[in-house]
Formats: sequence, C-alpha cells, structure tokens
Amino acid sequence: MKIATVSFAHVNLSQADKTWRISLGTIAETLTTIIRLETDSGVVGYGAAPIGAQLISGESHASAEVFLHAARDILVGADPLNRNATIPRVSGLMAGNARAKAGVDSALHDLAARILNVSSVTLLGGAVRTEIPVLRIVAIADPAKMAKNASDVAANGFRYLKLKMSGELHGDVDRVAAVRERCGRDVHLTIDANQAYSATGAVSFLNAIEPFNVDMAEQPVLADDFEGLAMVRAKSRVPILADESIRSVGDALRLIQMRAADFISIKVGHLGGITTAMKLASVCEAASIGCLVGANTGGRMVEAANMHFIAATRAISYACEVGEFYLQNRLQY
Ligand SMILES: [Mg+2]
Repeated sequence: MKIATVSFAHVNLSQADKTWRISLGTIAETLTTIIRLETDSGVVGYGAAPIGAQLISGESHASAEVFLHAARDILVGADPLNRNATIPRVSGLMAGNARAKAGVDSALHDLAARILNVSSVTLLGGAVRTEIPVLRIVAIADPAKMAKNASDVAANGFRYLKLKMSGELHGDVDRVAAVRERCGRDVHLTIDANQAYSATGAVSFLNAIEPFNVDMAEQPVLADDFEGLAMVRAKSRVPILADESIRSVGDALRLIQMRAADFISIKVGHLGGITTAMKLASVCEAASIGCLVGANTGGRMVEAANMHFIAATRAISYACEVGEFYLQNRLQY
C-alpha cells in the first residue's frame, strides 16, 4: 500500500471575543490547515495543522502551502505504515514550518490507525488514562473583568485556569488576587506572562503572588534567557513552567541540566507533531520533570489528536490546554 494523494484546505476560525489579549498582542482569529492523505486502496487519514495566530507561530496559510507542496513529493509513494522512514524526511523541510509539519505527522498517525483499524491511542501504545483535566486560558483584562471572566469559565465546570499576565507588576498582582477572591480555593490557578518580565521583576512578582496559591508560573522571562529562568526558579517558591524556551527536545535537556524549570509545556504543534512530542515526554519522565500539553490552537481536530497523545503518555502530570476551541464562534469547524 502506498500514499497516493495529499490534499489540504485552509480554515480561518474567528474568535467570539475579538479583544482576546495576551502580553504578545491581541488574537482575533485562529488559522488551521486540514491535511488529507489517501492511499492507493482508498483509505483516508486526516490531520490538522495548528497554525494559530501568525504573531505567535510565525506561520501562515501561505507558508503551510509552500511546505505542503514540498512534503507532497516525499509523501506520495511512501509506505503509510512506515512513519519511521517518512517522518524524518518530512522533518528535513521543517524549519519555520513546525505547525504545518505537525499536521502531516498527525495525518500519518490517523492514516496508519485507520489502515490497522485501531484508534490512534492504540497505535501509540494504548491508553494510560481515560480522563484529561482541561486547563482553560483567561485573557488579560482589568482585574474585575478578569475575575468575572475566570468565574464564568469555572462556572462551566473547568477547575484549572491559566491567567495571562501583562508584565506590569502591580496590575498583575491585582489580577491574580481578584481572580482568587472571586473563584475561591477550589479552582487551580496558573499564570503565564509570555516572557513579559525581566528575571528580577519576575522574582518580585512571584513573591508578591505567593499568598494566592498559584500552582505554577509559565515563562515569565524571555525564551532565550535560560539563566534568568534558572535564577527566578531559585529565588521564588512558585514552580516554574517553561514554554517558549522549549523549541526542541535539546532545549529541554539544556533547561533540565540548568535546573531552570519544574514543569515543561509540550507544544505538539511547536515541536512538529506527536512523534517529537513523545520524545520530549520521555525526556521529562527520565528527568522526573512534570509536563503538560500546552495550547497550539487550531480547532477540535487539533485537540482530538492531542488527546490521543495525552491519553497514551504517562509522563503528563497536570491539566492540559485542549479546550481553547470554546473561544471560537459556534457553528465553525
Ligand atoms: Mg505559554
């Protein structure tokens, strides 16, 4: 059996709240590219590339299209049951196209699972869990509005909330305090400044929010500032989650050696797909570092693939960001 055709379609998912904001900017729209692989015997597999917002990913429908035209030359004629041979070749095209490649990786898993007539989680070795707690993201707003938004999400049953931070210390402390006050003690809170703090500023901020019982602080400093992240971790009691710092499995190894993080955010799209995400999860497990799957948004098909990965991966030790499709307008993909 061979892969006979590769086709794709671009989708723009508009967010219900056009003012949804993190420290890097406002995100009104999420992009995805749906990839369809079909074998010469008519079996079809689908994957979704979580292109997301260009201001975060640097990718676009146009860049995905260039990547997919090149990937098609590798995929057509390839054995759909030999991902070990095909994926490294597709990875050779990955520079600047990690999320597009993640869609291909996902489609190759889906196709193999369908040929074998098993679920993707079975293909990945089988499920180690049947439930996945969801960590929902609360965008930056003034403290009272953010507290209201957070309690609205909690009222829908979500017990893990991640509060986006602006990088302005007093306002951010007020945000965390207001959300904790409004949501009570039963809701788990994490914070994510998306690199907005200096290392010394982050230490002051994390010490100031210590009374509010935050489970972890995500990427307070610049992605490249591994030394700063290690310093923040040494000088604060809030556990540190590395996110933007992790662009590869090698980055994670270096951060772990520097004792710069307590948790690592596995971004399946950012890493180029499930194949690399599994390697990163194994590194976390070997180092006894906690990990979770972070949001690379692109709609429900992206999250379906993420959930197969999470279900199969014992190392994942915290709620995962697989529910952000709720932000998108109803009646969309
Ligand atoms: Mg983050």
